[in-house]
Amino acid sequence: MTPDQLRAWLASPRVADGAWSSILRQRAGLGAREPAELLNVRAPELVLALSREYVKAGAEFLSTNTFAATSAALRSRQLDPPLPSAVELCRAGAQLARQAIGGKHEVLIAGVLGASGAILAVQEVSAAELRASYAESAAALAEGGVNLLLLETFSELSELLLAIEACREATKLPIVACLSFDSGPQRTRTIAGLEAADAARPLLDAGATIVGSNCGAGFAAALPALVALHAGSKGPIWLKPSAGVPELVDDRVVYTATPEDFARPVRQWIDAGAGVVGGCCGVGPEHVQRIATSLAKLRSAGRGRVRNPAT
Ligand SMILES: [Zn+2]
Repeated sequence: MTPDQLRAWLASPRVADGAWSSILRQRAGLGAREPAELLNVRAPELVLALSREYVKAGAEFLSTNTFAATSAALRSRQLDPPLPSAVELCRAGAQLARQAIGGKHEVLIAGVLGASGAILAVQEVSAAELRASYAESAAALAEGGVNLLLLETFSELSELLLAIEACREATKLPIVACLSFDSGPQRTRTIAGLEAADAARPLLDAGATIVGSNCGAGFAAALPALVALHAGSKGPIWLKPSAGVPELVDDRVVYTATPEDFARPVRQWIDAGAGVVGGCCGVGPEHVQRIATSLAKLRSAGRGRVRNPAT
C-alpha cells in the first residue's frame, strides 16, 4: 500500500483494534520480564485468537503484536533462555496477522513498533542504535506483509522523528506516527513536554502519512489533543485512547469504563477530525464492537467525510 492509497482509504472513518500486550499477558500468564511479543513464537494460537476477535468485532486495521519487537526495546529484557531476535518476532507477528485476516481485503495490517522506553535526550540509547533498531524491525514487518507501519506511544519527538526516518529508509510503506498526551492541564502535552499543537507539522514533514494520539490520559480526556493535532495536520487523525485511569483491585490493574462509556464520544471525535478510532490499554474486542456500531451509524448518515484542507 502507498501513502496515497492509505489517505484515500481514510475518506470515511475507520475502526481500529484495541489493546494487545495487556490482554495477551493476562491470558498467557507471562512473567513480569517476558514481553508479550514472545507469544508470537511461543504461543501463536493466543495471538491468532485475539486477532480474530478484533476482526470479528469490526476492526478494519489489525495491529501486529510487535510493540516491543525492536532490539532497542528488548535489550533491557535479556532472559535465559535468550529471547528470539526482534526481527524474528516481527516476521512472526506479521505472518500471524496475515493468517488471522485470511483473504479479507477490507482489513489492513498495521505493523506496530512502540517507543523504545530508553530516553534519547539523556543518551540512554544512541541515535544510531535506535535508527538501526527501527529500520531492521520495519523491514521485517514489511517482509511479513503488513500494509502500513504504526509507530505508537511515543512521548519524545526526537525519538519518533528518528523512527519515521528509519522506517522510510527501510520501506516505502505509509507511516502512522502517534504520540501519547497525558500531561498539562488539558492533557495536550506529552510527558516530555511537547504540545499537540506543535507536534503534527514536524511529523508530517519527516514523512509520516498520518499523525495521531494513542494511550495517554484516557478516552474522556482525548478531545483537546485531538483538536490540536487536527488543526496542525489538516488531515484525518489516528485516535486510540486508553480506557481511562486504571484502578488497582486485588493486585490487578482494572479499567472500569464499559464498552458503552468508551463509544459515547465517538461521534464527537469524528466531528473533531478523527479518521480512525480504536483503543489502547483497557480496550478489548467488546469496546471495538461498540466503536464499529457507532461508526457504521455515522457512515450511513454520511458523516465524517474528511474535510477539505482548504475549508
Ligand atoms: Zn496504552
